[in-house]
Amino acid sequence: MKEELAIHGGRPVRSKPFPDWPVYGEPEERLLLEVLHSGKWGGVGRIKLPEFEEKFAAYQNAEHAVTVVNGTIGLTIALQAAGVMPGDEVIMPPYTFIATATSCLIFGAIPVFVDVEADTSLLDPAKVESAITTRTKAIVAVHIGGAPSNLTELKKIAKKHGLRLIEDSAQAAGSQWEGIGVGAQGDIGTFSFQSSKNISAGEGGVILTNDEQLADTAWSLANVGRIRQGAWYQHEHIGWNLRMTEFQAAVLLGQMSRLDEQAAKRERNAKLLTELLVDIDGIKVMRRDPRITRHAYHLYIFRIDPERTDRVNKNEFIDRINAEGIQATAGYVSLNQNKALLNEIRKWTGESRSYSCPVSEKACDKEVLWLHQNMLLAEEEDMYDIARAVRKVMRSYQ
Ligand SMILES: *Cc1c(COP(=O)(O)O)cnc(C)c1O
Repeated sequence: MKEELAIHGGRPVRSKPFPDWPVYGEPEERLLLEVLHSGKWGGVGRIKLPEFEEKFAAYQNAEHAVTVVNGTIGLTIALQAAGVMPGDEVIMPPYTFIATATSCLIFGAIPVFVDVEADTSLLDPAKVESAITTRTKAIVAVHIGGAPSNLTELKKIAKKHGLRLIEDSAQAAGSQWEGIGVGAQGDIGTFSFQSSKNISAGEGGVILTNDEQLADTAWSLANVGRIRQGAWYQHEHIGWNLRMTEFQAAVLLGQMSRLDEQAAKRERNAKLLTELLVDIDGIKVMRRDPRITRHAYHLYIFRIDPERTDRVNKNEFIDRINAEGIQATAGYVSLNQNKALLNEIRKWTGESRSYSCPVSEKACDKEVLWLHQNMLLAEEEDMYDIARAVRKVMRSYQ
């Protein structure tokens, strides 16, 4: 029997809200006050920043960490430290936040969009090699929603062609590929602590690497060209002040105290949700590679079955499920279709480039739905509500 949809006046599946984000408490409060009263808020004599850098690097199994103002600038610094120059091409998926591309264009490096896999929304390694040119310098793997990209394949391709592998891990704090944290499995990787991310300080970012020289270069770029052991006015390179404050490090240390517990809960709830959604006619769950040993689930991503998208309109589906009390969202516009980016690429290259990424375009326009990480911090029964709402809305199309 079809139930009346809430959007048409029926009873919504759910009226209870999902957990708020950010989650914070005593540790953040204590650490923030400690920084405040220390009078050491940044600059010389930093205490919390090195402590956080050490902890976060260890958490992701990396040797070095350099904190920076945000994830976008983190990527720019990572690219520059890795030797990417103006005019060099950087291969990346179009299914990502615009910052992955703008972090290149800020200094004239050229994003080259290579399509994603339909069943993961992650960069398709099988399509990377044909996009490599003499100008290609790096590949950016983006771990969307916290799902690690196929690092095994991407590392192989990068090695074979002498390219740098950079991991945009903005959404992947805690994620692991084959038992090792993401971020420094390639040459260098970056994380974001913007307000929506799985640990947050309102804003912030960090660069991870196992290469000491890359770490030193990144540090110098983010510290007005100084060198670590140098004098205050000894500027050996051109760099900028791109530092975080001690207050942000204090909040992040507080956030990290909950990360394991929250990660375990997100994993547990995501597993249950997958078991519930996989049985719903018209819905496809994403493929989870068994080499993903830990998934941060910044997003829980699922799809409308591509065979149903002619009848089931994605935006209408979202309106209907939102009315049922489930805040699913539509996610990105495929970056290869963003006119501002294409114009900027034309400005730097003098060429009108276009990129064919039909899988990403279809994911954005017709298929992929997101649930945000805070929903996975709810309880088991709440996952049943999500599945009930998805089933109810899907049935309305039969
Ligand atoms: C959030 C995000 C960024 C940018 O990080 P900011 O800290 O907001 O600058 C880059 N890439 C991805 C995939 C992101 O989700």
